Amino acid sequence: MSSLTRNKSGLICAIGNQIIKQIKQPCRFKHQMPERLKHIPNEENPKFSQMVQYFFHRACEICEDKFVEDLMKVRGNMLTKEEAQIKVDAMLRQIEACESMVEVSFPLKRDNGKYEIIQGWRAQHSTHKLPVKGGLRYSEGVNADEIRALSAIMTFKCAVCDVPYGGAKSGIKIDPLKYSVRELEAITRKFSLELIKRGYLSPAQDVPAPDMGTSGREMAWISDTYAKTLGYQDLTAAGCVTGKPINQGGIHGRDAATGRGLFHATEHFINNECYMEFAGLKPGLKGKTYILQGYGNVGTHTHRYYKRAGATCVGVMEIDGSVYNEKGIEPHELDAYRLGPGKGSIKGFPGAQTIDGDLFDKPCDILVPGAKEKVITKDNVDKIKAKLIVEGANGPITPAADRKLRERKVIIVPDILGNSGGVTVSYFEWLKNINHVSFGRLTFKYEKDANYHLLNSVQKSLEEALCKEIPIKPTPEFYKRIAGASEKDIVHSGLAYSVERTAKGIQSTAADMDLGTDFRLAAYVMALMRIFDTCATAGFPY
Ligand code: GLU
Repeated sequence: MSSLTRNKSGLICAIGNQIIKQIKQPCRFKHQMPERLKHIPNEENPKFSQMVQYFFHRACEICEDKFVEDLMKVRGNMLTKEEAQIKVDAMLRQIEACESMVEVSFPLKRDNGKYEIIQGWRAQHSTHKLPVKGGLRYSEGVNADEIRALSAIMTFKCAVCDVPYGGAKSGIKIDPLKYSVRELEAITRKFSLELIKRGYLSPAQDVPAPDMGTSGREMAWISDTYAKTLGYQDLTAAGCVTGKPINQGGIHGRDAATGRGLFHATEHFINNECYMEFAGLKPGLKGKTYILQGYGNVGTHTHRYYKRAGATCVGVMEIDGSVYNEKGIEPHELDAYRLGPGKGSIKGFPGAQTIDGDLFDKPCDILVPGAKEKVITKDNVDKIKAKLIVEGANGPITPAADRKLRERKVIIVPDILGNSGGVTVSYFEWLKNINHVSFGRLTFKYEKDANYHLLNSVQKSLEEALCKEIPIKPTPEFYKRIAGASEKDIVHSGLAYSVERTAKGIQSTAADMDLGTDFRLAAYVMALMRIFDTCATAGFPY
């Protein structure tokens, strides 16, 4: 159990790094929210890029004074406070801005002989670390503002997870279901060439990955296009894109990485007694009910991991309708139905009731919005019954809804932690590509032999000391690991470690800075501190 104390600013919090009550505090910071963003916390449908800027400026409010002090220290007190303030202000404006963005259009000859002009974007939000990293999405709704916002989210996501990249994102404005495979390949290859020509694709500069509407197939086309053009003499060419199929230099575990990371992130909050007491839930995933919004890469894998941990899926929402069953929806049954001949949809799944529209008003413990941005808004937030929301999509909750949920004591695991598993394992894949060796390849046999030698040695020593035969048998757990760590084992443990470290960092930042249960703010603060440190050390003019 936690004990309570009252801190300097009058907040009630738990001792240690676990806050259980969130109380509004007066703003004691100098940083002002820019005029153009002041309406965002009340906006029903904010501009996506402004919504991310709003989250960023909230972190600036917490950090700015500290940055001024830090900068004065770094510069050996050569700067006056005023000079440091001017500089910090400029640095924050630069960190907020999207550094560059390309918009391209190119013709596609369709299978029916007609021509279509395809439009796409790539935004590089921050090059404070290189390469920049972020997915490529295919969706009819894609636009410049969305890509700009998503690239900024990538900057903060990489920073909070300590994945050493700047942020980027790209999108092509098409509904991939309306194009043949030949057409999709032509679009992907042409788009890749447009990026290559402009310095927006290479292992050292800019590395895309799958996102909504794309998968390993598109990544293989991108990799091949790069390798056969600009990258023809580049030994690290395969590292120009991640999320590739294994036979193209991909890594085991990348496909499920976002869902797996989301599951680990959930564990770090749901197993915390204090947070659960605050939210009105019992700790642990076992026995909990959940609803998934979106059943793509994030939703399907999350479903498997949650189910394996003993939770029950009561509903799944998709763009064309939802399925609902209080008694539970089996992942493999739903997958088999959706992937069945001529289906491609969850609608009509016999193991549940099909419902037109969403399931936001259905009772459940956990809600995973895993499809797209701004789905939980001021308009529908009051319907939501879940007590824990884990963001699988980027930016699914608007600031107005976010505030209302926190006031209602709902715990929100923010996107930059919730879906960070994807880019984390992308990083492992990129390392594999530039190192030209898969994890475990050199050590696999050595570890196995060493483990057997260890067992033999223990057996011999005991037999010599006790003068009798003592057969030593590995326990089933040890037996499973005796063969040494495979690439998949290393990816899984690397991912679990990364999510744990980030979740704990966010939780202690929230506690140390008196941010209550505003874990999004804590995550942005943590990310901003890392980015600022990098820029303050080098990269910003003296
Ligand atoms: N599209 C994913 C994201 O939004 C993965 C990005 C990557 O691996 O570069 O995080």
